[in-house]
Amino acid sequence: RAKNINASELEYDKEQLFDGLLTSGLDQASCISKVQSHLYCKASPSPHKPSPYLISKLRSYEKLHKWCGTNSRDYNINVKKIVHSKIINRAAAASMCKYLVLKPCNGLGNQMITTAATFLYAILTDRVLLIRFDKESMAYSSDQYFVPSLFMNPSFNLEITKMFLYHLGRYLFLPSNEAWKLIRRFYETYLAKADEMIGFQIRVFIPDSVPQQATMDLVLSCTLKNKLHPKIDTQNSVSSSTRKSKTVKVVLVASLYPENGENLKAMYLNKPTVSGELIEVYQLRHEEHQNFGDNKNSMKAWTEMYLLSLSDVLVTTSLSTFGYAAQGLGGLKPWLLYKLTNNETHFPACEQDLSLQPCYHVPPKH
Ligand code: GDP
Repeated sequence: RAKNINASELEYDKEQLFDGLLTSGLDQASCISKVQSHLYCKASPSPHKPSPYLISKLRSYEKLHKWCGTNSRDYNINVKKIVHSKIINRAAAASMCKYLVLKPCNGLGNQMITTAATFLYAILTDRVLLIRFDKESMAYSSDQYFVPSLFMNPSFNLEITKMFLYHLGRYLFLPSNEAWKLIRRFYETYLAKADEMIGFQIRVFIPDSVPQQATMDLVLSCTLKNKLHPKIDTQNSVSSSTRKSKTVKVVLVASLYPENGENLKAMYLNKPTVSGELIEVYQLRHEEHQNFGDNKNSMKAWTEMYLLSLSDVLVTTSLSTFGYAAQGLGGLKPWLLYKLTNNETHFPACEQDLSLQPCYHVPPKH
């Protein structure tokens, strides 16, 4: 999996810039992931190319953002007028910068998918996107991925509709140097050696009502039935000599609860598999509870999402935006575990998503 990564090679080429999605504008050392992230992608160069239309819209947006963004002269003039409720006539308004102020809310996954959706709306309507993170602000507030609604509006050019979370996610969400260090360290220590990596995102929304065994049953029934990882060979024992020749499959578990990773680890520890593959299970961390608005925790959650997005095979939990973000960034069609609730017979335990795009949470009202 691992490519030859040389941290000192900070030179841009087309592949590094995701086929023109990013520009080489920034000081390279201020965002190392921008230069290096392509080295960790499952398929690089990516088979999914951004359309020329999307690239030209992004370049126009960047100019507009520079012209109207918070550091610009126009921003100060416009905001003063708005704050002092000055009456602006139509002609003057037409020449003013237009803004869309977003206050993303709820967990990190929700915030990311709604930021990507709102950004798409901003570039389609020539607005500058401003994001507020303070608790008090009058701003547009959302936690949803509403992009499918944009399909229904014929005034938007549908050329942009190809795999947008994948492209916009890569454009908008580059790990900071601090997060990148965590991602690289974990990847290089545990994941790089694998022939294949399976990511599990196991989200239990109401833990008190779901027995641990029900979670494991659902996960195993999904993965074994769909041959995502192999069965244990109960007839033979593993010997260290045969181990060396085995294909290594790494299982990365992201969950708030340690039991999920521990159970899978115990299942495969020192046991041979019928396929002869060696399975190694890792869980990065477990918070036990959901944290909102805490930067340190968000960075750890981000690290997990990013690592999940590097999987060859991804299993996520339906309705969880944490999984949506990993799916979108990785350009993957995940196996969606049915939402974990008590006393429900799940049949089937999971299904593979039809698209690289996450779905609406609930069917839209027309
Ligand atoms: P959703 O609630 O599943 O749609 O996902 P969100 O990301 O919007 O909110 C869940 C929040 O709980 C995240 O932002 C994390 O802070 C935390 N969280 C949930 N699952 C995990 C996980 O597997 N790992 C980590 N580190 N945090 C998680």
